[in-house]
Amino acid sequence: MIPFIDLKSQYRVIEKEIQRNIEQVLNHGQFILGPEVNSLEKQLAEFVGVNHCVAVSSGTDALLVALMALGIGHGDEVITTPFSFIATAEVILLVGAIPVFVDINPKTYTIEPKLIDAAITPQTKAIIPVSLYGQCADIDAINAIAAKHSIPVIEDAAQSFGATYKGRQSCSLSTIACTSFFPAKPLGAYGDAGACFTNDAQLSRIMREISVHGQDKRYHHCRVGINGRLDTFQAAILLAKLTIFKQEVMDRIRIANRYTEKLSANRIHTPYIEPFNTSVYAQYTIEVDDRERIINQLNEAKIPTAIHYPIPLHQQPAVHMEHLQLPQSENAAKKVLSLPMHPYLSESDQDYIIQHISKSVISK
Ligand SMILES: *Cc1c(COP(=O)(O)O)cnc(C)c1O
Repeated sequence: MIPFIDLKSQYRVIEKEIQRNIEQVLNHGQFILGPEVNSLEKQLAEFVGVNHCVAVSSGTDALLVALMALGIGHGDEVITTPFSFIATAEVILLVGAIPVFVDINPKTYTIEPKLIDAAITPQTKAIIPVSLYGQCADIDAINAIAAKHSIPVIEDAAQSFGATYKGRQSCSLSTIACTSFFPAKPLGAYGDAGACFTNDAQLSRIMREISVHGQDKRYHHCRVGINGRLDTFQAAILLAKLTIFKQEVMDRIRIANRYTEKLSANRIHTPYIEPFNTSVYAQYTIEVDDRERIINQLNEAKIPTAIHYPIPLHQQPAVHMEHLQLPQSENAAKKVLSLPMHPYLSESDQDYIIQHISKSVISK
């Protein structure tokens, strides 16, 4: 089987650094908030170009901490996209707020800014655009609408750490940005991990307090928080991975471009990236009709695939909004198909994948 994501090849490249960094943590023994966490926060903030980074325990907790820091709670409305991973809606529901789903632009799969204004009410307390598959939403348009109504914007950048929008780094584009270092994300730890970013010193302090049980001084808790700290081991691993990350992003783009060139020549619907964006291709996702048949044929050829995501969020039972109609998201959920994508995909494996997909799509 060709791997969908190849973490073993990556490990071979940075084995020494990973082992040295883990060894260091074992030696100093500061497993909670050890020095690696602070170094990582500094390096991540510098990479992104913002003043503050708060490392947290996962991408989901990053979103939760952001909503809590903005004081969003019972009865508030948060505008977001229905075409995302469940975490985006889950955190809104967890704080007692209501997700207000705005449909996507079918070309980019990100929230359609033109539809946002009509969804704003006096209860709207935030907008959460999601950079799906590694491409940022049209954040300038979204920020302009938000500014008009004095609403903060939280970038769900779980899939887009390392991407750029009009030359600016993802995670630097809005009031707060949240990313994930889940192992399969473009920058992945060896377990759960995430981070919040902001240029606002006060929000940064509040997010840090929330991530440590609302603690401002030792055993003094000024607000309700969570146990949302980043583990020192994960920080140590991310520090090693960050040293090769820029190269990996370039490799991802090179491999994605090669997919696009060859698949589109065979009239397959390939990803559309806005000319002012660069994607980190957290997923390389095509659209096909007759998806089940194609998945089965690829499986027979030992090519793994995945669907991001088969059910739009308003149709998830936990969300209880099945009555909504969001046609672009519903249509995309029926057609999208993600292919093996990682910086170590060889040309020969990629050619094999391209050949089988093309054969499968054409043989309809
Ligand atoms: C992965 C992901 C999350 C959640 O991140 P975790 O680290 O798995 O908690 C949130 N939003 C999106 C869009 C994601 O892809």
